[in-house]
Amino acid sequence: MLEIQNVSVSYGMVKALHAVSMQIQEGTITSIIGSNGAGKTTIINAISAMVPYQGSIVFNGKPLPLKSNQVVRKGIVQVPEGRKVFAGLTVEENLMVGAYTERNRKQLPQLLKQQYALFPRLEERKDQDAGTLSGGEQQMLVICRALMGSPSLLMLDEPSLGLAPIVVREVFETIKRIKENGTTILLVEQNANKSLCMSDYGYVIENGRVILEGKGQDLLSNAKVSEAYLGGKRKPTC
Ligand code: ATP
Repeated sequence: MLEIQNVSVSYGMVKALHAVSMQIQEGTITSIIGSNGAGKTTIINAISAMVPYQGSIVFNGKPLPLKSNQVVRKGIVQVPEGRKVFAGLTVEENLMVGAYTERNRKQLPQLLKQQYALFPRLEERKDQDAGTLSGGEQQMLVICRALMGSPSLLMLDEPSLGLAPIVVREVFETIKRIKENGTTILLVEQNANKSLCMSDYGYVIENGRVILEGKGQDLLSNAKVSEAYLGGKRKPTC
């Protein structure tokens, strides 16, 4: 579905990505794991055309446009790190912002219904200001807002960051259901254990380079991954 070939990104003198290549197969969850500053967000930002890059990114056989609004129209939507809700808008108004294209605006009632089915608490709170929601609810809201754009590829940047363990479980369960509903997922996470457990495929990034790749389950039992990202646990439980 998506093929990233030799993509490099620099921020002035800082080279953030060095000829990164990756593939994402339709209908799967692909994870990118790595420590702070490894370049994970930069990969997502390059796909979204939020940063200029060298190399090529091909989506369904065609090069991706270099303008973010056009990338969204092609069916790729990003959920940025940090639960960026519009705090002064209601939950439902936040969701409506996600139905950005004309095609999606025409399907508004149906799209809202889908989000409320995925996460019913949003319907209970639809008239409440988004700023009054809990951290977990805000995370669900930004995921559902992205789904209002009917993406075929949903990119999630650190969805579990700063959430309590019980809420993290709920967020990951929701991500699984989104995949089951037919959306392909690219997941950037520092929670290597949880993300690899539910991923079909994974990439490990260090200093802007892919240093390892493989099936989620294979990476979980890899000694280097275990030592660097799983606290030395050899057989983590999923
Ligand atoms: P984190 O988990 O901390 O967000 P990351 O793996 O997503 O880390 P990136 O945010 O992609 O990493 O950053 C990769 C490198 O690029 C880091 O060295 C970072 O400091 C640098 N960088 C990122 N954004 C900018 C920017 N706007 N200007 C300058 N340097 C940047």
